[in-house]
Amino acid sequence: MVKICCIGAGYVGGPTMAVIALKCPSVEVAVVDISVPRINAWNSDQLPIYEPGLDDVVKQCRGKNLFFSTDVEKHVREADIVFVSVNTPTKTRGLGAGKAADLTYWESAARMIADVSVSDKIVVEKSTVPVKTAEAIEKILTHNSKGIKFQILSNPEFLAEGTAIEDLFKPDRVLIGGRETPEGFAAVKALKDVYSQWVPEERILTTNLWSAELSKLAANAFLAQRISSVNAMSALCEATGLMSLRCPTPSKDILNLVYICECNGLPEVAEYWKQVIKINDYQKTRFVNRIVSSMFNTVSNKKIAVLGFAFKKDTGDTRETPAIDVCKGLLGDKARISIYDPQVTEEQIQRDLTMNKFDWDHPLHLQPMSPTTVKQVSVAWDAYAATKDAHGICILTEWDEFKKLDYEKIFENMQKPAFVFDGRNVVDAEKLRKIGFIVYSIGKPLDQWLKDMPALA
Ligand code: ADP
Repeated sequence: MVKICCIGAGYVGGPTMAVIALKCPSVEVAVVDISVPRINAWNSDQLPIYEPGLDDVVKQCRGKNLFFSTDVEKHVREADIVFVSVNTPTKTRGLGAGKAADLTYWESAARMIADVSVSDKIVVEKSTVPVKTAEAIEKILTHNSKGIKFQILSNPEFLAEGTAIEDLFKPDRVLIGGRETPEGFAAVKALKDVYSQWVPEERILTTNLWSAELSKLAANAFLAQRISSVNAMSALCEATGLMSLRCPTPSKDILNLVYICECNGLPEVAEYWKQVIKINDYQKTRFVNRIVSSMFNTVSNKKIAVLGFAFKKDTGDTRETPAIDVCKGLLGDKARISIYDPQVTEEQIQRDLTMNKFDWDHPLHLQPMSPTTVKQVSVAWDAYAATKDAHGICILTEWDEFKKLDYEKIFENMQKPAFVFDGRNVVDAEKLRKIGFIVYSIGKPLDQWLKDMPALA
């Protein structure tokens, strides 16, 4: 029986391993994590992450060939294949701060693997990491190996949160990179044999280590670039009265790409990708400015209901959610905000609004909320409570339930004029205008009210 161990029971490790266990009954999968509450949650009815379909998969396999444990060393020692899917935040200090990936977690995982292993192992890089990380990890492993052989593979993840299980069941592609040596090819084949239990052969692509790593950064960069183009266009559409759509983008990995370009003497290329990120940040500032300017240039002491906090619907993940920047922008103008999200906990929201940018992925550096923020932010248990007595509503995640709210009732309970700022084009603006709301839909032509209140510079 092949034994797989995955270090890191997060958004990537958890769902991926659950699906491997489901599709490969002959493989024993252990998901390990240093976080006791996280593992306890995986072993309970309340899983630590929300993904449609995940509960079902976990229920079918847990206790049979899928185990969640904090005994990291035991399971690593027993495994044939070790996936590493630990956090890779952006560095907050030192060389490359704000851009380069912080590989502290990765490095300590690699040292631990080398330390506890008593048999040969395949080590699979699953987290999104800078190009050449595999080589660095290989060095740590081989220099500390006590004669044990490690083969390192890169198997980047292409799943999208919110549809992770669907994506894992039917992936567009599975990419496996390895060393181009007989041992390397054998390791690639061993991992391929796992995926080929349910993924058609032609969708499993094999390549060398750094091509696999670069493919992931490239895919993310193209996605961000496409979204930034749409965002840039939406600003023009609003100004000219044409229509367009918008969506948010993760920018963390692009910062990585900027750093790699700079380190390789390519400042122009770095500058190009920096602009892609800037356009995205600009979209958030523009949104906050629109809110403030429409509400007579101040939101000080006004109650703003924030509907949705997760970075997209059907997930509870808030890392890099535009809601953080928008809420911070509103708090900066002294608004009182009342937040409702169907999946994000109050604790998570308060933590996100307290943390500095780039601390998102650092579970160890939590800071207490400042007393002013505590006073200004409250978390509501439904959309009606959040919007009661509010001056304005900001829709920041496209949850389906926000389409079906009783907006007449909401309007009655709000201060007038009542505003809706729809950052995700969720609501039927015309219907809401008939009720009496002043509606701003991002990327759509402005109505007269908004035209009369030009956006702040
Ligand atoms: P991702 O989105 O890439 O899955 P997450 O932050 O959701 O990232 O999950 C990473 C997990 O890795 C966290 O639960 C964290 O506790 C865990 N982790 C980090 N370092 C180690 C380590 N050395 N050993 C075990 N688990 C670790």
